[in-house]
Amino acid sequence: MQRVLSWGRYPYEPQLARTVAWRDEIAVAWRDATAACGTTLGFGNGRSYGDSCLAASGEVVHTLLLDRLIAADWQTGVVRAEAGITLGHILALALPHGWMLPVTPGTQYATLGGALANDVHGKNHHVRGTFGCHVRRFSLLRSDGTRLACTPESEAAFFAATIGGLGLTGLIEWVEIQLMPVRSSRIDVTRIRFDNLDGFFALSEQLDPLHEYSVAWVDCLGSGKSLGRGVFMAGDHAAEGPLALAARRTRTVPFTMPVPVFNDITLRVMNEAYFRRQRAREAHFAMDCDTFFYPLDALQEWNRIYGRAGFQQYQCVIPPDAARDALREMLDAIARSGTGSFLAVLKRCGDVASPGWLSFPREGTSLALDFPQREASNRRLFERLDAIVREVHGRQYPAKDAHMSGEDFRTAYPRWEQVEALRDPALLSRFWERTTRT
Ligand SMILES: Cc1cc2nc3c(=O)[nH]c(=O)nc-3n(C[C@H](O)[C@H](O)[C@H](O)COP(=O)(O)OP(=O)(O)OC[C@H]3O[C@@H](n4cnc5c(N)ncnc54)[C@H](O)[C@@H]3O)c2cc1C
Repeated sequence: MQRVLSWGRYPYEPQLARTVAWRDEIAVAWRDATAACGTTLGFGNGRSYGDSCLAASGEVVHTLLLDRLIAADWQTGVVRAEAGITLGHILALALPHGWMLPVTPGTQYATLGGALANDVHGKNHHVRGTFGCHVRRFSLLRSDGTRLACTPESEAAFFAATIGGLGLTGLIEWVEIQLMPVRSSRIDVTRIRFDNLDGFFALSEQLDPLHEYSVAWVDCLGSGKSLGRGVFMAGDHAAEGPLALAARRTRTVPFTMPVPVFNDITLRVMNEAYFRRQRAREAHFAMDCDTFFYPLDALQEWNRIYGRAGFQQYQCVIPPDAARDALREMLDAIARSGTGSFLAVLKRCGDVASPGWLSFPREGTSLALDFPQREASNRRLFERLDAIVREVHGRQYPAKDAHMSGEDFRTAYPRWEQVEALRDPALLSRFWERTTRT
């Protein structure tokens, strides 16, 4: 059996993976895993950063080889596929027929099952909500052998508990989604530099209602008058053009660096260069959709640059009324800490409700950034950030998390008890054990 890790490689807990290649093997692998360890967990492609995709037992059922398209109606854009198919694979099949994933996260390597279990969101959350809003039905296998066909109307509680339910309610066999029609896979992009956090909010208010996609890079080391400076990107599918995923050259980080490549000096230099790379304040151009949606996928295994200790991502969403002040405080705390990463993202989330009980996005502004794993400094900084998020009733994203306290999780996600009531007794993650039992 192979060993797998979560994307952040922290906590460093290699999982023994029982790989299934056919749907009728799921029950067998599950039975074997529970006979050996009591509980297990579904594992897609390990693109979750922290410990929500790690089994409490250390042994997972790996579904990545369940990657078949089961049915596709290219007239209506309804597609049914096995849970292990990646979003990139679906995109490659659907784009030539004029269909696009209605919601996609920042990596095409997430699987359908993983996208459902974390109810992922993308650059168009303000328009289309989360991935779960576009799920029509799925098949959920339980450890007692029951197979549930879940839709919003039938097995409605399992439907709501499983979307964003962190893989705890059963193993997902296949998922049916409604795709979104597009006329081109090219994206018309507007990119604008902003000088501080107020600049971000002004652009977001002005441009979000006009564009399908929007997101901003923020310089996490900007301070004083430059606190929260960054680059805003808005985009829409072009009215005409090619309909395909462009062949893209990728590179691979060949091995895990002994120490993180970034320190506060290299980070400062990179941030300055990125902020200034565009001469004019505003630029308009077109780019391929995979470059627009998945810039990080061009560098395979990029998580290795954080070194052996790995890294943690901190992602939270702050309600609208408190967003400006809370994010200013958070960015100030991060800039003062001198740590952080080149990858820091601000995004306004809209008010489209998700069907999922534990879905992360809510109306407000989301901040996400990576931190090389350094025990003492991360703990100090995260305590400060957590306190700010707690005070304004924001919440953190379980799919990215490796540190949130049980109390913070349970307060921010009050429906966790309903999910616990439907949890399959033979499934348990490290995250769930950590946050619901302490
Ligand atoms: C570069 C990068 C960018 C990202 N950008 C975003 C973003 O913009 N928005 C966002 O929301 N997320 C984002 N993510 C996070 C990522 O999209 C999610 O963590 C996603 O759920 C990972 O999918 P996976 O297939 O790798 O699942 P895994 O990480 O392997 O598992 C995720 C969850 O799904 C469950 N699961 C997987 N398969 C099954 C199954 N068959 N049955 C039952 N449960 C199952 C697991 O138990 C686990 O709880 C990003 C991640 C990376 C690495």
